[in-house]
Order: sequence, then C-alpha cells, then structure tokens
Amino acid sequence: MDASTDMGRTRPAGLTTLDDMTKRPYAGFDRVATAKRVGLESLIAAIADTTDGGLWNNGSLVVRSKRGKKGMSVHATGRAADLSWRPMGDRRRGSNYETAQRVADLLVDNADRFGLEAVFDYYPKPFGRGWKCDRGAWRKYTSRAFSGAPGGDWLHVEVSNTVADDPGLGDVWRAIWHDEPIPTAQEPARTRPYPGAPLRKGAQGDDVRWVQAIVDTWVDGDFGPKTEQAVQDFQQANPDAGPVDGWVGPMTWAELNRHA
Ligand SMILES: [Zn+2]
Repeated sequence: MDASTDMGRTRPAGLTTLDDMTKRPYAGFDRVATAKRVGLESLIAAIADTTDGGLWNNGSLVVRSKRGKKGMSVHATGRAADLSWRPMGDRRRGSNYETAQRVADLLVDNADRFGLEAVFDYYPKPFGRGWKCDRGAWRKYTSRAFSGAPGGDWLHVEVSNTVADDPGLGDVWRAIWHDEPIPTAQEPARTRPYPGAPLRKGAQGDDVRWVQAIVDTWVDGDFGPKTEQAVQDFQQANPDAGPVDGWVGPMTWAELNRHA
C-alpha cells in the first residue's frame, strides 16, 4: 500500500555505502524485482520473530499497479513490505500498535543500518504519518496521503537497493532488538602463496595489502615504517614467524597464513 502523494521521484546513481544513507533522495519505484529479495525478507522475518508474531508479513513482493493510479507500486521492487500489527481475526482496534510503534522507532533510530527508505504508519488520525529518508524525520500528514489512513493496521516498510539483497539484515535487526553488538559483514582474510622473495620496507602491491590486513595496520599497499613496525609487533607476538626484523620472509609468511 503506497503513499501516492509522497512518492514518485527516481533514484540517483552512486549511493553505495552506508555513510550515504542518511538524508538521501528517496528512490520510490525503480524497477520490478524478478524474485523476493533476501535482505528485505530476512528483515521482515526477524521482526515477526522478535515480536513473537506481534507483527506479521502481510505482503512484500507484489507486482501490481498502484490501486486506481498510474505507475507501479513500490512493492513491485521487492524492497517493501506491509507489516500488520493486528492479529488475524482480532477485532480489537489498536491491539499491537504499541509493538508496531516500537518497531517503527527502532527502524528509524537505525535508519542507516537498515538502509531505510520509508516507514508509513497509517493508524494515527487524521491522515497517518510517514518517515522518509529524504527528510530523515517523521511527518504527520495533514491531508490525505494514503488510502487506508487513518486507522490502517499495518506499517509499510521500505529499504534501499544497497541492503535489499543482504541476507545479514535480519541479524542486524535481532542484535538491535536484543541490544546486542551488531554483526558486521567483514570479508574474511584468505591464505596466500609466498611471493618468492621477502617483502620489506618500500614494497608495494597486493601482497603488501594482504600482509597489512593481517598485521592489523592501515591497508594501502605501501610497505612503509608503520607497516614495518606492525610486522615487527606481529613477529614479536608470534615466535614461529622468525626473527623480529620487520622483513616478511618465508617463516613470517607461513605464520601470516596461519592467521589469515
Ligand atoms: Zn505497502
């Protein structure tokens, strides 16, 4: 379900990092997804899970036009879901609305982590409220912004393309919900064959980058004094790496592989 008067701009290119996530242009409908998108689905499943079914997925990927409007629903992108907060068959108005508000608040408070594009809350009078990334704040609508408002018993949640396919999004939600450390997606260092000659100060390139990542210094591919010091620290801490000389020879290389 869409906010017809609050959508419709196109997505700019070049938003690739989470740093870009706050106060950025709103994407709206961009393209039709060919399948459900694992990032959005994992987030919605985790929300349903952590709220013990207090909120449940009432539809994510739906390829259809906006009702009575021209243009495609943002649900067709696979980046949006409607989370219902009234249990099926429950006639009590407002039954899980408190939980829904807590969910909406957590999403918005961590908007950058969730790559949040929008949250629409249809319930409040007179016309519902919406949070959007391009203003980074809630707005209480003062005119009719979406059908179903006021009183609609669901949240419409939209994430960006940057996270829509990231299966770790659900784990991020779980960590935030339980107030635990947030998992980071870190590329594991991999083992690497010895280049054939020692690396030392002045060396450059991918082998240096690999070494720098493991000895935990700035990774720039230039073997300078800081890298040399970090290699010496590594050798000091790992006797099997050979003499503490700041040179990366076969013994140090082998030990680095054991730490890769
Ligand atoms: Zn919707």
